[in-house]
Amino acid sequence: MKELTQRGSTQNFNKELALNLAFEGRPDILDHSPIHVDLHARYEAGAVEVKGTLTVDLELSCSRCLTSFKQTIELPFRELFTQKPVEAEDGNPDELPEDIHLVTEDKIDLEPYVVENVVMGLPYIPLCEEACKGLCPECGENLNLGSCGCKIEKLDPRLAGLADFFKE
Ligand SMILES: [Zn+2]
Ligand SMILES: [Zn+2]
Repeated sequence: MKELTQRGSTQNFNKELALNLAFEGRPDILDHSPIHVDLHARYEAGAVEVKGTLTVDLELSCSRCLTSFKQTIELPFRELFTQKPVEAEDGNPDELPEDIHLVTEDKIDLEPYVVENVVMGLPYIPLCEEACKGLCPECGENLNLGSCGCKIEKLDPRLAGLADFFKE
């Protein structure tokens, strides 16, 4: 996906990218679709603005109950590129305003930016639902499916004596 946007023109990218790199090191991501990329590149004021949405279908493993579930994530994407460093007011050409990426070639390879945006946008701790009850620490039952009947002793050791007091 290397494209050069001509001055004043708009280019659209509507593609499916199989960038498996974005999902590496995430064993809680059981499966994923290709990354659907819907981006528009626009040349304006010496820079190219690439903007749009990245969409991925995920199959995730809940971090509490380990059940697999499906989720579609939609990530807004916006990156700015320029070939010429814009001089900041203090004359330091290294300081580009607004996180503009400096590119030296005529074409911009957007793939590393797509990967970076997906890595940052993946759910950090996947949950099948916010209120997921997780697994019973005693028997491993999925507590979302019902109570397993285990009595979980969560007594403060300072109150243990008191518990004995109530035993008949
Ligand atoms: Zn869960
Ligand atoms: Zn249990």
